[in-house]
Amino acid sequence: MKAWLTYDFNDMRLEDVPEPKAEPGWVVCRTRVLELSVTEVAEFSGAPVSSHESLKAMLAKSRPLPLFGHEFCAEVVEVGAGVTNVKRGDRVFYHRGVPCGTCKYCQAQRPQLCRSVINVGEDTPGCLAEYFPVPARMVAAVPNEVTDAEAAALQPLVSIVGATEGIGIEMGDTVAVIGLGPMGLDSLQVARCAGASRVIAIARRDPVLQLAKQLGADVLVNTTSQDPVEAVMEATKGFGCDVVFDCAGGATGQGHAGTQAFQQGLQMLRPEGRIIEIGHLPVGAEVTFGLIEKKALRVVGRRSPSPKMIDYAIQLVASKRVQIAPTITHTLHGLDKVPEAFDILANKSKHGVINPPQVVVWQ
Ligand SMILES: [Zn+2]
Repeated sequence: MKAWLTYDFNDMRLEDVPEPKAEPGWVVCRTRVLELSVTEVAEFSGAPVSSHESLKAMLAKSRPLPLFGHEFCAEVVEVGAGVTNVKRGDRVFYHRGVPCGTCKYCQAQRPQLCRSVINVGEDTPGCLAEYFPVPARMVAAVPNEVTDAEAAALQPLVSIVGATEGIGIEMGDTVAVIGLGPMGLDSLQVARCAGASRVIAIARRDPVLQLAKQLGADVLVNTTSQDPVEAVMEATKGFGCDVVFDCAGGATGQGHAGTQAFQQGLQMLRPEGRIIEIGHLPVGAEVTFGLIEKKALRVVGRRSPSPKMIDYAIQLVASKRVQIAPTITHTLHGLDKVPEAFDILANKSKHGVINPPQVVVWQ
């Protein structure tokens, strides 16, 4: 079978490798549709993201490696001994894991704190291949109502549902979403489902703001012509919003807002408001503590979803309460198109991409 193997940063080759076998507790999947994440593009380019040193050490120890590829819709073709959650023929996606059940957090009935997550495409081979093995507890099956394309984009949605669960939206809350990439558009839709009375969508590009409106945003703020903090204060009659999702934070060299969006988020919150960081702030990023203290704000980091949230995310898409299809702008065909997908995602604005480009490998 064919698989993309990483020799070094910026050096990936499509090669013939042996087909995997299903070990106990694992399944072998055939890739149907895959997409890359912005983080993977940064990692492959050798950018100084938080995982850079560990990837460098892995490649120094053994190369090539079947790295990257954790967002997929894949079909289970072989099931290892003891697997009960999925069966042959199921279409599955990776959701970052059902808790292990044995660590100190799981034992204390706090499964969302379990850190025994297996990172597909790093700890195990990724989906940039015709077939790949994966631990069964890391994947879930999708119903017929969910398309291959939607299933391939479900992993980020599960992450947003987990984040929303963590920050706790109350009925009637006003929610601001800064940054309207796929995670931002997921956040705004999930916030509405969770009871937000109004969602304020904040971004730099008009086409994504229009899409946000189509997906239910009530107030649109284009930061190239409006100050986002003033706009939120105006929209809330000077009160400030209840919750902020910062989906724009990240290394400035990769088209993100650094810590600026996070700082603006702190300013636009009402006293005792909550902010969650969805992006990956630059390594060593500093934020000013003053406002957090003065306004008694709550800052929440990203966390794992509790198990029932995985099913909830699937149902949100199956029932069309969350729409993913309108965010998919680019579809490529054939496993050999993976480098093109990296290139398009690395230049998102130039290509007008919202959801990462998808590669249809087998259908
Ligand atoms: Zn655990």
